[in-house]
Amino acid sequence: VTRLKTNEGEIIERPSEGYGKIIATHYNTLEEKGLHERSKSRIFYLRNFHNWIKSMLINEYLTKIKDGKRHNSPIHVLDMGCGKGGDLLKWRKGGITHLICNDIADVSLDQCKSRYYDMKNRNGRDRNSSFIYTIETIAADFTKVRLRKKYKDPSIKLDLVSCQFAFHYGFESLTQAECTMHNAAECLQPGGFFIGTILDSNDLIARIRKSGANIFGNGIFKVEFECDINKPPLFGGKYHFNLDGVVDCPEFLVHFSTLIKLAKKYGLKLVRTEKFYDFYQRMHVDGQQLMGNMKGLETFPPYPNTSLVGTDEDDYTHAEEFLK
Ligand code: SAM
Repeated sequence: VTRLKTNEGEIIERPSEGYGKIIATHYNTLEEKGLHERSKSRIFYLRNFHNWIKSMLINEYLTKIKDGKRHNSPIHVLDMGCGKGGDLLKWRKGGITHLICNDIADVSLDQCKSRYYDMKNRNGRDRNSSFIYTIETIAADFTKVRLRKKYKDPSIKLDLVSCQFAFHYGFESLTQAECTMHNAAECLQPGGFFIGTILDSNDLIARIRKSGANIFGNGIFKVEFECDINKPPLFGGKYHFNLDGVVDCPEFLVHFSTLIKLAKKYGLKLVRTEKFYDFYQRMHVDGQQLMGNMKGLETFPPYPNTSLVGTDEDDYTHAEEFLK
């Protein structure tokens, strides 16, 4: 058991095997809700917005990959923390050839598999059916397991690795962050891309400091810090995140400069980083049609640019040694 000290001096015990099991159990027990049920949810528009962001992001990088390849060359993708397969249709629209789906939550992964076969069967019945990519699934903790060893073909060359709303789970410890990054980079071929979406830790830290307590949020979400907010640890900066019954589990701050440093260690170089608001500003003209198809997005953007103060330099002066 490791002991974590919070700002209030409270001691929190960390399970010796880490938080993976707790996180997996949380996602495994999430109820699968139909579209009708989802449309009544208070975060329906937010989810649509996040889906729009992912669609545009995936499309942007698949386009770059296709531009750099001969026509009809195969495209291989790894989705780390794919969940129930919320992005399966995006991969289909992107015309990929093969998808490796990975998640720590085996029940979610089973749901992902059946969603894929539903999509494939529907396509088979359609007279104008188009090619559907193949999949393989790997139920494993990407922070602890070398995924390559589980691939059907460990010599596969990946064109794209995607980790959507999941990479922050890797920042539980340095060893786990290294393993996560190693998994993201290991089989990427030169010219390939790693794309992902994570929470902005500086924003979280600024908000918690402003709140004057160790918890902030509203009727829809809550973030409760369980680490020192004055000197946030580079790894294991734990907070508990609750989002309207959809997320309710521990997560970890991602110090972005540290992420970049780790990525470099595994042969990746930063191409672009953007806040959702700026991404929306850059993409909303191209993404107008898709937005029109997603209900409720006429009120875009669903939140204003709410960035608060808080820079890497202010919050993480203690990171200098690591970043050298
Ligand atoms: N990427 C999906 C999406 O965008 O719809 C799911 C995102 S959900 C917020 C986070 C997912 O990450 C969950 O399915 C969870 O089980 C998975 N996850 C969390 N920690 C993980 C780990 N250590 N290894 C593999 N998957 C993990």
